[in-house]
Amino acid sequence: MTQFTDLGLAKPLLKALADEGYETPTPIQAKAIPGVLAGRDLLGIAQTGTGKTAAFALPILHRLAEDRRAAPRRGCRVLVLSPTRELATQIGESFKTYGRHLGLSVAVIFGGVKYGGQMRTMAPGVDVLVATPGRLIDHLQEKTVTLEGVETFVLDEADQMLDMGFIVPIRRIVKHLAHKRQNLFFSATMPSEIGKLAGELLKDPLQVSVTPQATTVERIRQQVLFVEQQRKRALLAELFAEKDFKRVIVFTRTKRGADRVAKSLEQGGVEAAAIHGDKSQGQRERALAAFKAGQIRALVATDIAARGIDIDAVSHVVQYELPNVPEAYVHRIGRTARAGAEGSAIAFCADDERN
Ligand code: AMP
Repeated sequence: MTQFTDLGLAKPLLKALADEGYETPTPIQAKAIPGVLAGRDLLGIAQTGTGKTAAFALPILHRLAEDRRAAPRRGCRVLVLSPTRELATQIGESFKTYGRHLGLSVAVIFGGVKYGGQMRTMAPGVDVLVATPGRLIDHLQEKTVTLEGVETFVLDEADQMLDMGFIVPIRRIVKHLAHKRQNLFFSATMPSEIGKLAGELLKDPLQVSVTPQATTVERIRQQVLFVEQQRKRALLAELFAEKDFKRVIVFTRTKRGADRVAKSLEQGGVEAAAIHGDKSQGQRERALAAFKAGQIRALVATDIAARGIDIDAVSHVVQYELPNVPEAYVHRIGRTARAGAEGSAIAFCADDERN
């Protein structure tokens, strides 16, 4: 089996991995890291939970450290685009964790917060910038960020970008990038529009695909419960009577639905919080922190709010309503059974959802 020491990574990176207790590379890491270190473009077909963040962060950090130079003012050497602020934050944390012995700078910018701090952070230039597309475009228009010096461009969760309407913004951002650069492209699924975008961006890419079927999904026990719409609340309350229903994400289709389900759980004595697009950044962060700390048992979320959330030890995922597309189902159940753990996914299906 491949070891991290076989991959040619710099000592300070191996040290950080040892600090984290990582022993062996995941399949996507073993396959992607050597090629990315050699400067190749990459098409990674992988969902979160496969270790894809380290698969790009480690070789990128290695290359930055081997060839140290100052980023341009207001610019960056590496740009990572992420669809949500939660995922952007997690990616930024990963770069900081793996790069902690290298002394490189990492910045994260996303919408919903003031511009001033982001402008001050970007003013001297940073090694790695992780950004959501909307806010990055604002900074580009204001010329408070420049992308001229980008040597490596990472597009993460491209299929989610498509769902969230970010394809046009991404094309606009790409126009700001230098022609000569390395491109790393990740997507869990490959709808045709994403295939097309990958074709435009990537030059002779190394292709690595880790099927969730063989990794995360195999460890998830999947069940469907046929239930009348009016009985769903009571059924959910019954499920929470089980002691092993410890840390549960409940998916609803709408924001109001999320609020209603969270409220009905609370009324039944189950600590719960809802996260969705109408909640402030502060509310979302507090809910996530309370859920991570085990202070609340149920996090009720819409698909968009839950994207990319990486919380260990989620025992169950309940789909209060079925999603409209299969990809959303796969993404939802992928919130459990992370980092090698087991998990259980339960889908409620009412009569009008059977088709
Ligand atoms: P990701 O797919 O990047 O969201 O990573 C999923 C989780 O796996 C994260 O919590 C990582 O910290 C963890 N992880 C990534 N690579 C490894 C590894 N080689 N060994 C152990 N845990 C890992």
